[in-house]
Amino acid sequence: MEKVGIAIIGGGPAGLAAGIYAARGGANVKLFEEMFPGGQIVKTHRVENYPGMTGGPDGYALAAALEKHAAEFELPVIYGGVSDLKLAEDKKTFSVNGEAYEADAVILCMGAGPRKLGNPEEDRFVGAGISYCATCDGAFYRGKDVAIVGGGDTAVSDALYLSALCRKVYLIHRRDAFRAAATLVDRVKRAENVELVLDSTVATLIGEDRLTGVTVENKFTKERRTLEVNGLFVAVGILPRNELVAGQIELDEGGFIVTDKNMQTNIPGVFAAGDIRNTPLRQVVTACADGAIAATKAVEYVGMK
Ligand SMILES: Cc1cc2nc3c(=O)[nH]c(=O)nc-3n(C[C@H](O)[C@H](O)[C@H](O)COP(=O)(O)OP(=O)(O)OC[C@H]3O[C@@H](n4cnc5c(N)ncnc54)[C@H](O)[C@@H]3O)c2cc1C
Repeated sequence: MEKVGIAIIGGGPAGLAAGIYAARGGANVKLFEEMFPGGQIVKTHRVENYPGMTGGPDGYALAAALEKHAAEFELPVIYGGVSDLKLAEDKKTFSVNGEAYEADAVILCMGAGPRKLGNPEEDRFVGAGISYCATCDGAFYRGKDVAIVGGGDTAVSDALYLSALCRKVYLIHRRDAFRAAATLVDRVKRAENVELVLDSTVATLIGEDRLTGVTVENKFTKERRTLEVNGLFVAVGILPRNELVAGQIELDEGGFIVTDKNMQTNIPGVFAAGDIRNTPLRQVVTACADGAIAATKAVEYVGMK
C-alpha cells in the first residue's frame, strides 16, 4: 500500500489549483486524473472570463497553462481513475491502476457535468450550436437568435443574460410555470426579446454541420413549431460526479458535496473543491479559488496529525 499525505482526485481547474498550492506548500501530495488535465474546460473553444488571461484563450490553452504551472512545483500526477474510495476519519484508502493507496487527507475535485436533453442527435451539435453554459458561450451568439431549455433558476437567469446579448431568445419549458425565483420570472416575462414557449419540449434538432433550428412540440396539443435559431442552450440541470463518495459523505439534495467555508466536508481530513461541491457559481475562477482553500486547509490538517 503506497502512502501519501494529500491525495487530490480530479485534475480539472480545482484539482490543479489545489495541487499547485499543496506542492508549493511542501506537502507530500499526489494528483489522480482519469482522463486528461483541465477537466470540463477543454470542451470550450474560448474562455473570456478567467481574470488575467486576456484575449480569450481556448480551453486547451488554459488547461495546458494550469498543468504547466503545477509541473513547475513538481506536482506528481498519476493518470488513472480512482476507485474503491473508502473515507473514514482515521484512514482514507483507494486504488488506481490496480495500486492501493492510503492518504492522510483527500481533496475531492471530480467535478460535474451537464444533464443532457436526451435527444439522440444532441452529441453531434455540442460545440456546433448546442451549449450547456450560457455564461461561458453566450457571447458567441451576440446579435443572433437562440433558444434555451429549462425551467429553474439557471434557465431563467441564463435567458435574461442571453437577452442582453442576443436578438431573440426563446425560453422553452415543459411546464406552464417556472421553478425559478419569482423575481427572475417577473423579469423574464417583461424582457421584450424573450418569448416563452411553455408546455413544450424539444422534439428535433435541425442542421447539417451546425445547428440551424429546433422543432418544439406542445405536450397537450402535440402541435409542432420550428424555431430558427443559431444556438440552443440546455439548462436542465447539472450532475455532480459523486459516484465515488455517495453514501459515505454528506450531499445536498442535488447530490453536491456539502462543505464549510474551509472546503471541509463532514468527514475530518476530507475536503471538496470546485463544481462537485454546493457552490453558487461553477466556473474556473471559483474552482481554482476552492482548490486553493482546500489545499491550504489540507496542508494544515496533515501538519496537525
Ligand atoms: C462547454 C463548457 C464551457 C465552459 N466555459 C467556461 C468559461 O468560459 N469560463 C469559466 O470560468 N468556466 C467555464 N465552464 C465551467 C468550468 O469548466 C468548470 O466550472 C470547471 O472546469 C470546474 O472545475 P473542476 O475542477 O471543479 O471540475 P472539472 O473541470 O469537471 O474536472 C473534474 C476532473 O475530475 C476527473 N475525475 C472525475 N472522476 C474521477 C475519478 N474517479 N478519478 C480520477 N479523476 C476523476 C475528470 O476526468 C475531470 O478531469 C465551462 C464548462 C463547459 C462544460
